[in-house]
Amino acid sequence: MPEAVWTSPAGLMETAVYSIPMRSRFRGITVREGVLIRGRSGWGEFSPFWDYQVSEARRWWPAAVEAATGKWPDPVRGRIPVNCTVPAVKPAPAQVIVGRSGCRTAKVKVAEPGQFLADDVERVAAVRDVLGASGALRIDANGAWSVEDAVHAIGALGRAAGGLEYVEQPCASLAELSAVRRRVTTPIAADESIRRAEDPLRVVLAEAADIAVLKVAPLGGVRRALAVAEACGLPVVVSSALETSVGLAAGVAFAAALPDLPYACGLATMALLDGDVTSEPLLPVDGFLPVRTVLPDLREAAAADEQTSRRWYERLAEVADLALGPDRSA
Ligand SMILES: [Mg+2]
Repeated sequence: MPEAVWTSPAGLMETAVYSIPMRSRFRGITVREGVLIRGRSGWGEFSPFWDYQVSEARRWWPAAVEAATGKWPDPVRGRIPVNCTVPAVKPAPAQVIVGRSGCRTAKVKVAEPGQFLADDVERVAAVRDVLGASGALRIDANGAWSVEDAVHAIGALGRAAGGLEYVEQPCASLAELSAVRRRVTTPIAADESIRRAEDPLRVVLAEAADIAVLKVAPLGGVRRALAVAEACGLPVVVSSALETSVGLAAGVAFAAALPDLPYACGLATMALLDGDVTSEPLLPVDGFLPVRTVLPDLREAAAADEQTSRRWYERLAEVADLALGPDRSA
């Protein structure tokens, strides 16, 4: 494991770069990478996607620092209800994912580039078969539809699914979300509209969404995510950014600290990765994640090769204005 040890004013003590294959292609990526950092309080994760510009990736850094050197708010619950996540796969593997998860709520990815509405209809119908009538089924279009496409697709998918809990980010802009929301009865959840906004604290969701999907890392940490939750005034679904268990623990801490948690959270995403940085991964049991700390087991970790590690240390230098790296004196 390429590792760096140093001291800094921020009190950081150690880093490790990881690289873990995805079980299936998800949001266009096949390998998940990032840096783990250790400070006086524990471990944090810095893993912005490579398609993010420096300005957007920079926001992830305070979340990692908070986890490593700060203190999360006290939890008000001991376990977090979670959904399983179904990538844009065929019906048979979709059913396996849902069946294996033990979750009573499923989130199904739809509107994948290169696929058709018929693929989505098949997938949600297959998922409903496994969930049964009492399960909750939500869909996520990642902003891919136009208003017209969204209204049509939500109708078709709602019928195929026998009811949808909500639809996440059907279109890209807040104006489009508002237009869709006026024309469908399915609740609308905003994700990218908040997370990728210039100032997530100032996004006005009143007309555009019924639910806010919030992710700790892109919002800059648990305390800042709590501030965004309070500012937007909507029920919150805490979601992951496909982190390892170290990053997921921050999402769990956020969900554990929210005054109300009416929906299952999107934090059961470890199963999408083919490995973890700890021998005790944050995996759901009977549809819940425990609220606990995660200690990476560096010997077990999915260590990145030297070239990948170098890319991440260069990125850290750029994003966090920190000149870090493998101990150059060695
Ligand atoms: Mg989403």
